[in-house]
Amino acid sequence: MSLGQSLSIALVGLTGHVISVEVDIADGLPGYSLLGLPDAALMESRDRVRSALVNSGEVWPNKKVTVSLSPAWMHKSGSGFDLPIAIALLAASGKIPESRSAHTMYLGELALDGRIRGIRGVLPSLIAAHKNGIRIAVVPDANLAEATLMSEMTVIGMDNIASLLHWLRTGERSHVQELPLEDSSPDDSLDFCDVAGQDAARFAAEVSAVGGHHLLLIGPPGTGKTMIAQRLPGILPPLTREESLEVTALHSIAGSLSSRSPLSTTAPFISPHHTATRVAMVGGGSHQIRPGACSLAHRGVLFIDEAPECGVGVLDSLRQPLESGSITIARSVGSVAYPAQFLLILAANPCPCGMFSGRGRNCTCSSQQVRRYLSKLSGPLMDRIDLRVEVEPLGRVQLMESELNNSSADIRKRVVRARDIARQRFSLDPWKLNSQIPSRALRTQYQPERKAMTFLHSELDQENISARGLHKIMRTAWSIADLASHERPTLEDTERAFTLREGVGA
Ligand SMILES: [Zn+2]
Repeated sequence: MSLGQSLSIALVGLTGHVISVEVDIADGLPGYSLLGLPDAALMESRDRVRSALVNSGEVWPNKKVTVSLSPAWMHKSGSGFDLPIAIALLAASGKIPESRSAHTMYLGELALDGRIRGIRGVLPSLIAAHKNGIRIAVVPDANLAEATLMSEMTVIGMDNIASLLHWLRTGERSHVQELPLEDSSPDDSLDFCDVAGQDAARFAAEVSAVGGHHLLLIGPPGTGKTMIAQRLPGILPPLTREESLEVTALHSIAGSLSSRSPLSTTAPFISPHHTATRVAMVGGGSHQIRPGACSLAHRGVLFIDEAPECGVGVLDSLRQPLESGSITIARSVGSVAYPAQFLLILAANPCPCGMFSGRGRNCTCSSQQVRRYLSKLSGPLMDRIDLRVEVEPLGRVQLMESELNNSSADIRKRVVRARDIARQRFSLDPWKLNSQIPSRALRTQYQPERKAMTFLHSELDQENISARGLHKIMRTAWSIADLASHERPTLEDTERAFTLREGVGA
């Protein structure tokens, strides 16, 4: 037998395609050729595969070796094909039974000493393999935690090629690693009961979680803006299994799973620095197109501190994902779409020096500087922000009262209950969250109570709010009404929504 075969997966974005790896060993001048649009990292596989096999006690065939990855037209990248190539090569030289190599999927990079190294994108690869009827997969031990999420498949973790070959030849496994599959609870170290005072901001966070309303926090440094944002994932409803798989798959492709437990059901929290580039924010890259911060925050929170300091165009790049819930990145190798549905939390100082407050003490900025600074937070992106809250420095009395605050677990219960009410109300509508109610529906079946509308119309007539602002207040009022189990937003709910929107004069 001089022909061997194994299976692997090539990823385009989150979508995986089954790749058949074939190796032919023929008499002739010793050599090695690799066919099927490989990239540079894949071209180097020969040296890794050869050293790994030789250092694991195998014999490299002194013949003409041809490796073909099909379908041939598809671009293939990365080092994850090392392992399937090695397996097909050993099958071609008759060193392992064909029956074990041909129907199993292999993923992994080989180190020169024969160790199997972890790679990116294992979970989305397994999801694709399962869809294509593959039942057994061999993955690097390092990726076993995320791979185990794919409980429908038999997934075997291996950390070196010698023990893999032992298993293929005898069916015996030298060690079996057991992994716990329980869902992790939210990080207890980040609880809302630690946030002192800031009633308005804490209430805004709760409303934001209920209706998926994007939030802007304005206040001097050290007033707890970051603390509040970090605690938001803990009050969002836990992710379902499907959502957790999707989030883990995105983090797997980005290679950022180390910062997140693969089995976690807590919504992700991503906070890019304000110096982040456009590519870091929305995704990109020249060879492999990687998801950006907005996709890593999918089904969770994207927090940008000191938002006015962001580079030109960086904040605006978030418009597409905010409008469509996904981001499409086009490159010469093709275009890739990644999901990006996130709750956006922006934080800003009130002025460049950060010390400006209602009393104006200690601030050294000119009024023109203050205006120019805050004007960066305007334009189309701000049209997507429903809630604007001012965070003030705390007095001593407020700090003393902080023990009375609600815990994240209590708030989360209220959020989940309010979301259930909204889900039932929207059972016949294409949207699920209050922040997604279209303007037309707000003017017809989703109007607040009559008194509330009278209040809003008088604010509109006095030009205290714009027509767009009016719709935002109505959406927020629905979330406040759901928290209070009101059938329809009351005047009081609507006034509170008005305060959460217009809390900052701008
Ligand atoms: Zn200032």
